[in-house]
Amino acid sequence: MTTTANLTRAEAAERSDRLTVRDYRVELDLGGARDLGRDTFGSTTTVRFTASAPATFLDFLGEVRSVVVNGREVDPAACYDGARITLDGLAAENEVTVVGEAAYSRSGEGLHRFVDPADGETYLYTQYEPADSRRVMAVFEQPDLKAPFTFAVVAPAGWRVLSNQPATGSEDRGDGTVRTAFAPTPPVSSYLTAVVAGRYHRVDGRWSGALADGGTLDVELGVLCRASLAEHLDAEEILTVTRQGLDFFHEHFGTPYPWGKYDQVFVPEYNLGAMENPGCVTFTESYVFRSAATRAQHQGRANTILHEMAHMWFGDLVTPRWWDDLWLKESFADYMGAHASVAATEFTGAWVSFANRRKAWAYTQDQLPTTHPVVADIPDLEAAKQNFDGITYAKGAAVLKQLVAYVGTDAFFAGARRYFAEHAYGSTTLPDLLAALEATSGRELGEWSRLWLQTAGTPTLRAELVAAGDRIGSLSVHQSGTDPRTGQTVVRPHRLAVGLYDLTEADGAAALTRTHRFEVELTGESAPVPGAAGLPRPALVLVNDDDLTYGKLRLDADSLATVREHLGDLREPLARSLVWAALWNATRDALLPAADYLGLVLRHGPAETDSAVLGGLTLNASTAVELYAPPALRDELRLRLGQGSFGHLRDAEPGSDAQLVWARSLARVAATTPAAAPRLRGLLSGSEAVPGLPLDPELRWSLWQALAALGAASLDELDEELARDRTADGATQHLAAVTSFPDADVKAASWDTLMTPGALSNDHVDATLTGFTQPWHRELTAPFTERYFDALRQIWERHSIEIASRLVRRLYPGHQDAVAGRAPQDDPVVLRTTAWLEENADAPAALRRLVIEARDQLLRSLRAQEAARP
Ligand SMILES: [Zn+2]
Repeated sequence: MTTTANLTRAEAAERSDRLTVRDYRVELDLGGARDLGRDTFGSTTTVRFTASAPATFLDFLGEVRSVVVNGREVDPAACYDGARITLDGLAAENEVTVVGEAAYSRSGEGLHRFVDPADGETYLYTQYEPADSRRVMAVFEQPDLKAPFTFAVVAPAGWRVLSNQPATGSEDRGDGTVRTAFAPTPPVSSYLTAVVAGRYHRVDGRWSGALADGGTLDVELGVLCRASLAEHLDAEEILTVTRQGLDFFHEHFGTPYPWGKYDQVFVPEYNLGAMENPGCVTFTESYVFRSAATRAQHQGRANTILHEMAHMWFGDLVTPRWWDDLWLKESFADYMGAHASVAATEFTGAWVSFANRRKAWAYTQDQLPTTHPVVADIPDLEAAKQNFDGITYAKGAAVLKQLVAYVGTDAFFAGARRYFAEHAYGSTTLPDLLAALEATSGRELGEWSRLWLQTAGTPTLRAELVAAGDRIGSLSVHQSGTDPRTGQTVVRPHRLAVGLYDLTEADGAAALTRTHRFEVELTGESAPVPGAAGLPRPALVLVNDDDLTYGKLRLDADSLATVREHLGDLREPLARSLVWAALWNATRDALLPAADYLGLVLRHGPAETDSAVLGGLTLNASTAVELYAPPALRDELRLRLGQGSFGHLRDAEPGSDAQLVWARSLARVAATTPAAAPRLRGLLSGSEAVPGLPLDPELRWSLWQALAALGAASLDELDEELARDRTADGATQHLAAVTSFPDADVKAASWDTLMTPGALSNDHVDATLTGFTQPWHRELTAPFTERYFDALRQIWERHSIEIASRLVRRLYPGHQDAVAGRAPQDDPVVLRTTAWLEENADAPAALRRLVIEARDQLLRSLRAQEAARP
């Protein structure tokens, strides 16, 4: 990419000062999409705008054939630098037409093209956020320059073609192609436009809502996926959640659904969970379950459906002016995904998994040296691309949950309604939202915003109990926290709950039950828990009970002793989820040995009723063993995790979620445990039968991948499995398996393929990375450490930012062993990383950010290994 592709905030601000965009008309010629020999498609944009300055530029990443400015031909060679089309000699009113050729994408950025190996059908879809609409059409690529877009798309006859608005007509062109014209969109940012084309399978639905004027709003619903996935599409459940969500947001957001129709398309090789294109939401097709799926997976899909639907208002109707305020839409959508799940659907456990899984993402990110305030400083597009992270989504949503506890749900929704009404089809920054919330809550939020949204770092919360015999003498709550970027202490206002729990009996079994709950306003470093003094000493003090605020909880010694014995007896799922989160944070912080965490998961995991939490526990247990356990213990802990997982798999109720979760855990750890190979073969052949366990493609491939990683499967066997599963996913899983062989030649070949831009699609990059980075292959991948550092700058320059980010993150040699007597910062890979950072001070900031984060995670793992040395 040329450097002018990295649009800066200052340039965007200047451009929006000078322009008002009237409208766009965009013609895309996808008629040749099925011909894989054709790498490009025709793209013609006509944009009309007013200008108060004589010059500006359009963004486009492709080849420019012609540029006409107010009827005057301009030589593309003179005005186009590969990223920008300079427009000068502008009048007050302007019309510019750009004819170009744009490339079909294989990286999921721009217009992605995918050929289904199951039936040879070609599928297209667009994905633009933050700045990839310019890979498809000439645009002013910044969120605040909204305008109506009118699309027309030429595609092969027989295809479905969708966009944000309904089609207004189609014309058979007599050459095997059809031109479909679409209604103009309401004013919208370019990154939110979308085109989807192919022989997608479609299920129709409808939703209606009452309007304030007595009328009815009717919205046509569509649920689509590839034809070869149609048998697995449970459209009824998706439509039910969709209608429940529309009911909920229609009632609570005040502004009726603004985008006409509502299509939800599950698309192949998708880089993210979903994207909120108004009226044409795209989702990863891993939400079309072709193998057994846990309730956590269904809940996760419902959450995503509602997250994207909330964006129809937060993000699409009202849009952050620039990427600094990305949180204005993402934090809200994340909050609303869980809130609406609980309020409007059968998935009432959404906050339980949020407390454990989603917040773990935030805590992890927020302790990195690269963390940032929720309201970020995003100087350019490359920085924007890196900021779809645990802060913007999960911490922001957690902070909003705290805000709701602070101002109340009613004031919060009233503020949202006011914000939509005032800023519909416009763009906003933080003060616009605060003004709406202050008006409806009557509370001054400037200080709250400064401390929660404009500082970084995770508060640590703990209780201090002074005993008086077997009673509480005093109980207080304490917080500490520093901003990792500045090192300065930050004390935040928390409205939180403290729960006291005691051991009792329920249904003839031990139970750890809440006996008291106190609400505490913690504004300084500590606050007393009023009313606690004089009560019997509890077995467990749970700070931040009900998960109202954001912070790492440190259990006191007595409470830790209680949960070691009785965590499984804690009946309340949210409380369990919070305790598990505290234990995981302690493990990551080198306060709880990995072996202890593993022991707790194996002991109390079977009592976990929430499959999202249980899935997280087993994943964490693997991470603990691979990264945080001392090297001398690692093999033994792998065996324990494998044997424990198999035992729990056998003991779990046939056909239950728990059975699936333990089976996945077994497959994961088996890839590092040669002794497990016969058992994996037994499961695959059926000689080791586990009643109720579905040997469907997902599980079979995970077992084959583990066998391949151990060198205990042959290429013929993997090919046979592929013959059983001739699907897109089968091909990807097969690739992950064949790149998993513990073989130096296989590693070298994978490395070369990964380094070759465009050699692999995005999904196949991931599959190859999975094979290459098998944790059991540390010795085989060690020779690539030096090559990694040598290649970093080239990786960044040659690959798209999406693919480059994956390569930089996942190829980092982050599995290293602590050595007695050597400080973590003297580990050779840490030293090599530091040297690279020093030698490459001029490297792009986004690349440096990834390398700094990888080094920090390595240091964390070395500290934990060191602290737990036996
Ligand atoms: Zn979102």
